[in-house]
Amino acid sequence: MASETASTNDPFRDPSADPSLEDIHHTPSVAESTLAVGRNASLTLGTKELIVLDEGFVDQGNGLCCGLIPERNKTTKTIPFFNILWAELSNFDIIIHYAKPIAKDKVRVAYITYNVEKTERSKVTEWTAKLLNRAYGKSQRQKRVKVLVNPFGGKGQAQKTFIRDVEPILAAARCLIDVERTKFQGHAVEIAENLDYNAFDVIASASGDGLPHEVFNGLGRKPDAIKALQKVAVVQLPCGSGNAMCGNLNGTSSPTMAALCLVKGLRTPLDLVSITQGGRRTLSFLSQSVGIIAESDLATEHLRWMGAARFTYGFLIRLIRKQLYPCDLAVKVEVEDKATIRKHYHRELTSHSDENARRGDFINTETVGLPPLKYGTETDELPGDWEVVSYDTMGNFYAGNMAYMSTGANFFPASLPDDGCMDLVNIDGDVSRTAALQCMFAVDKLHGEFFDLPQVKYRKVTAYRITPKRQRDGYISIDGEKIPFEPFQAEVHRGLGTVLSRTGRVYEAPGVTYNYVG
Ligand code: ADP
Ligand code: MG
Repeated sequence: MASETASTNDPFRDPSADPSLEDIHHTPSVAESTLAVGRNASLTLGTKELIVLDEGFVDQGNGLCCGLIPERNKTTKTIPFFNILWAELSNFDIIIHYAKPIAKDKVRVAYITYNVEKTERSKVTEWTAKLLNRAYGKSQRQKRVKVLVNPFGGKGQAQKTFIRDVEPILAAARCLIDVERTKFQGHAVEIAENLDYNAFDVIASASGDGLPHEVFNGLGRKPDAIKALQKVAVVQLPCGSGNAMCGNLNGTSSPTMAALCLVKGLRTPLDLVSITQGGRRTLSFLSQSVGIIAESDLATEHLRWMGAARFTYGFLIRLIRKQLYPCDLAVKVEVEDKATIRKHYHRELTSHSDENARRGDFINTETVGLPPLKYGTETDELPGDWEVVSYDTMGNFYAGNMAYMSTGANFFPASLPDDGCMDLVNIDGDVSRTAALQCMFAVDKLHGEFFDLPQVKYRKVTAYRITPKRQRDGYISIDGEKIPFEPFQAEVHRGLGTVLSRTGRVYEAPGVTYNYVG
C-alpha cells in the first residue's frame, strides 16, 4: 500500500505538481505578447511568467540584481504571474509591482519601471491589461478587505507582522483595506455580526485559527447568515500559534506568502459544521476532538512559548501515561472504507464544477439564520440509521474538515473543503505503544502513510454525537477552543462558508506548493 501512495496515482499528492491539471493557456504570438521598452529592453508574457529582457541588467554586475531569477543569460529574468501584484501606466512610465522572494518562504514588494514613448501608450495600455489578466486569472482584483488584528495572537507580534509584512503587499496590489484591532475575546464575533458584508469581499484575521472561528460564528449570527457566509470570504493571515487555516488553504505559514495568497486567492466554498451542546449552537470550520489530541492542544496552553512543540510534548506525555477516554459514539457514516474514500478524493481533484454547484441545497433559500438542523441536537432521540458504538478504550476521537492541523500534522489527508463530509479518525486506545508512536510519526508525512495504517480507522461522515462516560472532567476542543466536557452533536453543512484558496479545490501540503524560490 505504501508504494502505491508514493506513486503518481496517489490522490493525496499536491495537485499543483501534476502537469495534467495545469491550466492550458492560449499562447499568443511573440508580437502580441512582447512590449519593447526603451532601446535595450523588452517585456514578454510567457506561459507562466513575465520575461524581462534588459541589456542593462549585465551592467549592474550580477544576475540577481532585482531579486529575479536569472535564466538562460544574465540579461533575461522572469517573474511568475502569480507574483505580479499590479501593473499600470502612469504619465511616462510603466510600473510593475511584484512580490520578490527574499528567502525560502518570504516575499517583499519590489517593482520594475520603464519609460514609455507617447506614441506607444495605447499599445502599452493593451499589454498591461493582458498582463493583469494573466496575473489574476479568476481571482478578484483589488479586493476590499476588512482586517482584524489580534494583538495577543501567538507571541503578541500580530500587529507588527501585519504592518511590516502584510500591509505593503495588499497596498501594492491596490486592495482596499480597513484595519481594526480586537479588544477582547469574542470581539471578532461582534465585529463580523455587525459588519456590512456588501462593503467587503474578505474578512482577514491577522491571528491564529481563533479569530476566523469567531468570524464564521459572527456571520452565522446574522439574520441573513447564509447570504453573509456565502458572500464574504474568511481568510487567516498567520500570526498565531495555531495557523492551520492558512496552511491548508495556501500551503504556507509565512505571513508575506499568505498576503500574496490573499491577493491571488480563489473563492472556495467551505463546509461548516454545527455543534450543538447545552442549548447552544456554534460553527466549527477546522476540527473537533475529544481525548488525547484535544488534551494535548488545550491542556498545554501554559506551554505557549514552546510553539507547535507544545502539542507534540502534550501528546507524548499522555501516550506514556496511556490515558484512555471511554465514550459512546453515534455516527452517520457516508463512506466507510479507505479504497472508496481514495476514489472520492480523486474525483474531486479532477472535477472542475463551479462555486455554486459545490454549495449545499440551501443556497437560494430565504431561511432566516443558519440552515435548519437535519438531525436536531444532542438531546434529541438518535436517528435510527446512525451507527452506535460504545468505546471503553478509545485513545482519541478526532473529526476534521481540513487536512493539516495546527501542528502541520496531516491527520485528514482525504479531507476536502466542500465535499459535504467531515473526516473522522479514531485510533484504538488498545494499540501498542509502538503502533501509537507509528501513528504519531506518520501524521507528519505529506502523503497517505497515516491514512493507510491499520490501527487508524478513517471514515467520511455527515453527523455524529459523542457522549463521554465515567469521567468527570476532560477536554473537548472545537477548532482549538475548549468547550464544556459534556455530550455534543455535530452536523455538516455543505459549502456554507467561503474562503480563499490557492487552487480553489483542495487543501495544500505545506512547503510543496511553491517552486519559485529566490
Ligand atoms: P493563537 O493562535 O495564538 O491562539 P488566536 O488568534 O487564535 O491566536 O486567538 C486566541 C484568542 O485570543 C481568541 O480566543 C481570541 O478571542 C482572543 N483575543 C482576541 N483579541 C483579544 C484581546 N484583545 N485580548 C485578549 N484576547 C483576545
Ligand atoms: Mg470535507
